[in-house]
Amino acid sequence: MYRNGFHKKVEEACRLDTAESFNLQSRIHRLHWFGRSDIWVKRDDELSFGVSGTKLRKHASIIPVLKQEEIDEVIVIGGANSNNVLSAAQTLTENGIKIIPFLLGPPSQKQGNSRLLSLFVDDEDIHWISRQQWTERETQINSYVDGKKGHGVKIFVLPEGGHHRLALPGSLSILFDILRNEKESEVNFDHIFIDSGTGMVAQSLLAGSAVIGKNTIFHNVILADSFEDFEKGLKQVIQYTEDFLQVSIKSIPEYKLYYPVVGRSFGSTNSTIFKEIRCIAREDGILTDPVYSAKLFITAKHTIQDQSLDGNILLIHSGGALALSGFLDNPVFDNEE
Ligand SMILES: *Cc1c(COP(=O)(O)O)cnc(C)c1O
Repeated sequence: MYRNGFHKKVEEACRLDTAESFNLQSRIHRLHWFGRSDIWVKRDDELSFGVSGTKLRKHASIIPVLKQEEIDEVIVIGGANSNNVLSAAQTLTENGIKIIPFLLGPPSQKQGNSRLLSLFVDDEDIHWISRQQWTERETQINSYVDGKKGHGVKIFVLPEGGHHRLALPGSLSILFDILRNEKESEVNFDHIFIDSGTGMVAQSLLAGSAVIGKNTIFHNVILADSFEDFEKGLKQVIQYTEDFLQVSIKSIPEYKLYYPVVGRSFGSTNSTIFKEIRCIAREDGILTDPVYSAKLFITAKHTIQDQSLDGNILLIHSGGALALSGFLDNPVFDNEE
């Protein structure tokens, strides 16, 4: 009953009843780790070839509002290789909205995501912000917005990573998709591992599970921010969820926070990660990227053994494997070792 009303609101916000809506359903299948048959992966990486899964879900509820409000341009802020920026270049352009990137850089060399972004956006249309000026990026953005306002251009500013109230329904869509997976595969997950950048999707999963009383232990691998940032973001998302559903959330499910067991700082890579990417490809048949999914897989593998976790376990592969294109010249991939 309540669950159905909740699900309906999410579907409405993502316009899932329209033929051209994004696909927000992904399958699950078993991994063969440790000779077990109760460890599964959810293939949110299959939601789109070029848009990472988490970003597709967030944009799914942001874009309908932008269209309704007849927004002309969206300022997207991030690093030169940001998955959110590359994803927005696709989802916004598809919907006839102009992307205005404000990016940290320029990078000394364009590879991977930043090179792919060149396909969507002309170099002259990228607003580069140097590292020294990065803390004052808002000033630059505000002056751009003010200049455009005078010409009657309607602008929306998408924060870094897309952590925004409008992204809530799309982020919550993963919860209902997991419930569908559980039902179709006749399995109930005791543990769910998810990677966290801004934490928007992981936090929504917690807040949504609280509302429907889902009992799962959530293991969040914090890749970009700190544990404190995650807690702060969680409070915000709980508030967004309460406002969206007109409910009050009293307690949330059990959750744990981890930093990645390798490559602790965001975006850092090393040969252990690249070897693991090769290992995951050979043993599981799955492409992972060094920034998000490979670190999630490595940390999950470690944690499952370290804590002797039993029961049914789900890893969420949030996508982003296109970023791997920037690392293909890594010596590990020469296969000489
Ligand atoms: C952006 C991204 C994340 C993190 O999503 P948040 O909602 O910001 O935590 C995880 N995985 C991939 C592949 C991403 O692109």
